[in-house]
Amino acid sequence: MLTINKHYLKLQASYLFSDIAKRISNFQEQNPDKDIIRLGIGDVTRALPQACTDAFHKAIDEMAIDASFRGYGPEQGYDFLRQAIAENDFQARGAEVSADEIFVSDGAKCDTGNIQEIFSLDAKIAIPDPVYPVYLDSNVMAGRTGSFKDDRYQNVVYLDSTKDNNYVPKLPNEAVDLIYLCFPNNPTGSTITKEQLKQWVDFARESKALILFDAAYEAFVRDDSLPRSIYEVEGAREVAIEFRSFSKNAGFTGTRCAYTVVPKECMAFDEQGSKQAIHPLWNRRHCTKFNGVSYPVQRAAEAVYSASGKNQTKELVDYYLNNATVVKKAVTALGFNSVGGENSPYIWIDGGRDSWDFFDMLLNEAGVVCTPGAGFGKCGQGYIRLSAFNSLDNVTSAMERIKTALK
Ligand code: PLP
Repeated sequence: MLTINKHYLKLQASYLFSDIAKRISNFQEQNPDKDIIRLGIGDVTRALPQACTDAFHKAIDEMAIDASFRGYGPEQGYDFLRQAIAENDFQARGAEVSADEIFVSDGAKCDTGNIQEIFSLDAKIAIPDPVYPVYLDSNVMAGRTGSFKDDRYQNVVYLDSTKDNNYVPKLPNEAVDLIYLCFPNNPTGSTITKEQLKQWVDFARESKALILFDAAYEAFVRDDSLPRSIYEVEGAREVAIEFRSFSKNAGFTGTRCAYTVVPKECMAFDEQGSKQAIHPLWNRRHCTKFNGVSYPVQRAAEAVYSASGKNQTKELVDYYLNNATVVKKAVTALGFNSVGGENSPYIWIDGGRDSWDFFDMLLNEAGVVCTPGAGFGKCGQGYIRLSAFNSLDNVTSAMERIKTALK
């Protein structure tokens, strides 16, 4: 008799997006003439930069000719892309990362979900609340948590991100092994300063812990004093793995390309307490279970670093950031406290009422869809998330409609 992995049964059904879809379809049935504006989405809406599509086309043409055809590529990614990443995303900003420390993949979602499998099942995990759900659910599936009680899994150290700490969690006051951090944050849109990040790096060094730093939204950081990479902080190479993605800076959500940085100094320990480098373990895992991102996609990603690619991706991110400013100004004028919207595509709004009540009010009165904060964790209750990934026209009309509805 085949038994299943019992930990899957602990997973909480994700009602968030199905509940949202249900409420939208009810609204549409009752109001067939009203159009709705979706500001709940985390997906981008604008086309790929032309530099990327040109490179994509060219690479596909290469695949059409025997002489330039490519079959399986290196699992870790082609050198041309790894070099471009190391030089532009790190070395140019004074962060020491070499090309062979970069593992190209088909998504930061997969990498942030998969990384935990190279660590022991009794590793104590520290996870922010509210949170991008992948970190938590992948640990539940692995069996690293207890059951779900009172809105939380047992055996998890939750890092509350609330208005009291300006949405940057405090260091835990107990020992932990794996620490998930995400800045600029999804869902709150908050950012972390170098000094705050240094405290986490120092904490990890002192407690022999490892930080898993998700920087999927780093391109939105426009304040030069804020870190875009954890490796801008001294000492981080020994205690941090960083996840990056081409999804949000260059619109690759449907094209799929991302990467993970595992510095050679990064260590964990074996059962005897001897140091073990993480780099060869992740390399082993990657080569065993992954066969590389397609050649045309890697060429398209490489084009992000060309002169025209840099201009076009900046213009893309600027466009969404301008939308975020429109949202931020409008909600502030309406008297709401919010975080994010600067250096981030998300605006996290304290609605002063139940998240779902606020969701229903915005849908029914304004025809605007948001994401209820409660769907991201206990600390998200009372909040909603608005996203800047829509057209400027839609964002502007959504804000006008919300203003009218709240009058
Ligand atoms: N990390 C965070 C914090 C995200 O919000 C997302 C997507 O929304 C991802 C990772 C996923 O990135 P990718 O498209 O590279 O899988």
